[in-house]
Formats: sequence, structure tokens, C-alpha cells
Amino acid sequence: MGSVGSIIQCPNCKGPAHEEFYYKSGEVYIMCDLCGYYEAHELDRDKIEKNNIKDLRLLTEEYWTHIIQKPIACINERFEKFGRMCVVETGTVEEAIKELKKNKDKIGPDKEWKSITLNWYSDNKHYSYDVETDKMIEVNVEEYTDEINHY
Ligand SMILES: [Zn+2]
Repeated sequence: MGSVGSIIQCPNCKGPAHEEFYYKSGEVYIMCDLCGYYEAHELDRDKIEKNNIKDLRLLTEEYWTHIIQKPIACINERFEKFGRMCVVETGTVEEAIKELKKNKDKIGPDKEWKSITLNWYSDNKHYSYDVETDKMIEVNVEEYTDEINHY
């Protein structure tokens, strides 16, 4: 199904977030790799199938689900050819860092990971921790603001 991707302001941390809009179904997904925010407005496909609805225009409110997730932090893994993000839903940032440090020896050139960073948003500030260098930095989100499409 066709979709349009754009950069919007994250509803949680105000940083740049990725929005994917599926224009045939009207479904919208928002993901932020600075804070891990995730939002989905999607169709309840089980319900649609159960009621045998073929025309998406006939779908009322009850066929939509709205999910919002504000996790503790976001793990960004970079491999040779692609990246992957996943969220930390329970525990603390400190615990997540401790857990990620176990992979330290597997990060670097010609190793399993190119990099692993942990990003989180706290007290109106963005932080990023690099597992390989064991350094935490404050991310200046202003640098990204130009990327945001203002509607
Ligand atoms: Zn965010």
C-alpha cells in the first residue's frame, strides 16, 4: 500500500519525528528515534474482516484504534546496511545502559554492530548515550528543526 513519509515535530519531545501516512487507508504512524515515542492510528483489520466490510469509506470510529506509547528510552542499532530501533518500556535509563554495555566488544568496524546508541528525553532535554565510546551527550534538537515540515 502506498504511503507518504515526512518529518514532523514529535508530540512528546518536540524533536523531529517520522510520520508515515498511508493514503489509501488513512492510517498514520509516528515514530521518534530521539525519545522512542510511537503513535498509530490504524484500522482494526480483524473487526473489518469479521463484519465483511469492503469499502473503507464506510468505516466508522469504532473500526479505528489509536495507540500512543511513551517509552523510557529508544535504542538505535546500526548495522552495516541498515538500522533498527526499539524501545525500552520498563526499568530505568541506567538499567538500559548497563544492559547495552554487555555488547560493547561487538561494536566497531567489521563487527556485529556499527554503533548502538540509547536516546531519551528527560526534563525537556534530549540525551544520547553511545555504547562504544561510553559517552553521554546532550542532543541539540535545534539543529534538526529545519528538517521539520510545518503545516
Ligand atoms: Zn520524540
